[in-house]
Amino acid sequence: MIGRFLAALVASALCIAPLSAQVARGYQPQDEDERGLWMVMDEYERELQASNFVIRDPALNAYVNEVFCRIAGDQCEDVRIYIVRTPYFNASMAPNGVMQIWSGLFLRARNEAQLAAVLGHEFTHYRNLHSLQQFRTVRDRTNVMSFLGIGLFVAGGGLLATAGQLAMIGSLFAYSREMEREADSESVRLLAEAYYDPSAASRVWTQLIAERGAREEERGRRDRGEDAIFGTHPLSAERMADLQVRAERFGAEGETYRARYQAMLAAHWQDLIDDQINLNDFGATEHLLESLASDGWTSELYYARGELYRARAQTGDIETSTRYYRAVVDRQPDFALAWRGLGYALLRLDRTEDGQAALRRYLELAPDAEDAPMASMLTGVTP
Ligand SMILES: [Zn+2]
Repeated sequence: MIGRFLAALVASALCIAPLSAQVARGYQPQDEDERGLWMVMDEYERELQASNFVIRDPALNAYVNEVFCRIAGDQCEDVRIYIVRTPYFNASMAPNGVMQIWSGLFLRARNEAQLAAVLGHEFTHYRNLHSLQQFRTVRDRTNVMSFLGIGLFVAGGGLLATAGQLAMIGSLFAYSREMEREADSESVRLLAEAYYDPSAASRVWTQLIAERGAREEERGRRDRGEDAIFGTHPLSAERMADLQVRAERFGAEGETYRARYQAMLAAHWQDLIDDQINLNDFGATEHLLESLASDGWTSELYYARGELYRARAQTGDIETSTRYYRAVVDRQPDFALAWRGLGYALLRLDRTEDGQAALRRYLELAPDAEDAPMASMLTGVTP
């Protein structure tokens, strides 16, 4: 298949078609280049369909599609959205209509309007044929082999790319400034037309830039995988300012639908938080939790903070984690996982009796938990 694609590329002359303004509903590839691109991406889609990393929860998928259709109108039928369980913020759009959303995005968008802003941005890359244009630009730089390398990677490799591969894809698929500007300005217009708060676009990207700042401050360096979105959609202060100005032109009308968004994510919240904490990305995760708590710390957020400190386990961290777990069980005594965290933390601090008592409480609340046998062993009582 890749061979045929290569042949199609070699056969096609270096003529650059004028940009098609916007494709309409039911769009199909128009020439060899485009058919080749679609072929590679169709293969990729077959892999996605079989992947264990795709989150298939019908309720969540229906919700995301509903939001997308509000934004894309009847063209939403041409786009298939795959929600992939990867704890980074990313969204990407392939020319054949495959959109991927990484689960880390849900933790970072604060409301439905912000999710819609990202969907609108990606939809514009699709509707304005940006990846085809980009493909032609890359090919004209005689970088065909690197580009095909992606095809091979996509077709043959697993879905979870390494940070290096993500960066490579990022650098090759990076859209131009003009394309980003177009996707931005369209996303604001699409938000306003769908009665979403148009300032959601500038907010969601601004939050992401702040998170990157927190990560860099803590680590003193940048990690490429975590910044996958920055590779394909370069973010700048200039873009943010531009988005804000555009939003203001539409006025302050529009909804964010925060409650609806949070209710939809509730069933996935624990997985999202667990995946984030497992990244061992302390600075960015702490920043993220603080900003999620901007209008009050909930039990879930306190618990996540306890887990974060217990996982880092530097001097004083375990002690700190017990305070967060306590804050949870004080306000919500049936929060089983907080008793679990508290129990393990206290045992680690050699406060054996208190630790065992907390674990017993955990086991009372969650007798069928996966780690129940181990927890029960640690309580000193044989089940
Ligand atoms: Zn973009």
